[in-house]
Amino acid sequence: MTEQAIEKLELENDLHHALADQQFVLNYQPILNVQTGDIIGVEALIRWQHPVKGLISPDNFIPLTEETGLIISIGEWVLEEACAQNKAWQEMGLPPLFVAVNVSAHQFKQRDFMNKVEDVLNRTQLPSHFLELEITESSLMSDLAYFKELLFAFKRRGISISIDDFGTGYSSLSYIKDLPIDKLKIDKSFVQDEIDKKETIITSIIVMAKKLNMRVVAEGVETKEQYLYLKNNQCDQVQGYYFSRPVDSATMTQMLTKTKEQ
Ligand code: C2E
Ligand code: CA
Ligand code: CA
Ligand code: CA
Repeated sequence: MTEQAIEKLELENDLHHALADQQFVLNYQPILNVQTGDIIGVEALIRWQHPVKGLISPDNFIPLTEETGLIISIGEWVLEEACAQNKAWQEMGLPPLFVAVNVSAHQFKQRDFMNKVEDVLNRTQLPSHFLELEITESSLMSDLAYFKELLFAFKRRGISISIDDFGTGYSSLSYIKDLPIDKLKIDKSFVQDEIDKKETIITSIIVMAKKLNMRVVAEGVETKEQYLYLKNNQCDQVQGYYFSRPVDSATMTQMLTKTKEQ
């Protein structure tokens, strides 16, 4: 076996008890209103605190959890932890935020997914409009009729849906327009493109989103130039290292407390 294959097997083995051993943590990255600069939401991003290998980033283990089916239980934990944390911030009197949670296609395909989300909202007592689910376009494409129903059910329940990594997948606005989608999240590869390429992609996404009455958030904003470009082109929300890296919940609490005092 190659070193890489051994590493994968080891990780897969360890993943089976990582949840029970409480080795996962959520980091939070602020999402800002582009015009006011206020933090209006956070994205929850999972990390694996491996007892031997140290901190492992999601790109290095989420695909494994999808192969093994562990994503279902881990994804439920993420949802509950993120909603509970957001509720806790609200109880502390901090300005109300939405929390965006990444949902894998595997979770979304579970026929009881809607019930799971309901249960989490009931347990944590987080009002539904403070929850946003981030899904990728490819999740939708596999069974459009089913997902359309599901998305309308979320909408009726007041839960927002955001399309993550928008523009990288099958993205065709022809199907997006018939779905109750609240927000498009422009992939960071476009945000970080040179200005002439941006012109065509970002501005057309924004123009079309406005026509469809959807919000637009840009991720991966690393520089002032990128930020100003988005601001000048009527993007609604921004997220990226330029404002803050993802941070642990305690640091996020401090950040929110400071902005409240200002
Ligand atoms: P994503 O959902 O597209 O998340 C954005 C990624 O970009 C995050 O990486 C974030 O830390 C990173 N990022 C934020 N701002 C910047 C920036 O200015 N520049 C650059 N270069 N990167 C930036 P992260 O946390 O390593 O997550 C990677 C991916 O793992 C996520 O991509 C998402 O697809 C997946 N993921 C993370 N948490 C979860 C989760 O709880 N459940 C599921 N199913 N997937 C997750
Ligand atoms: Ca995301
Ligand atoms: Ca993304
Ligand atoms: Ca991604």
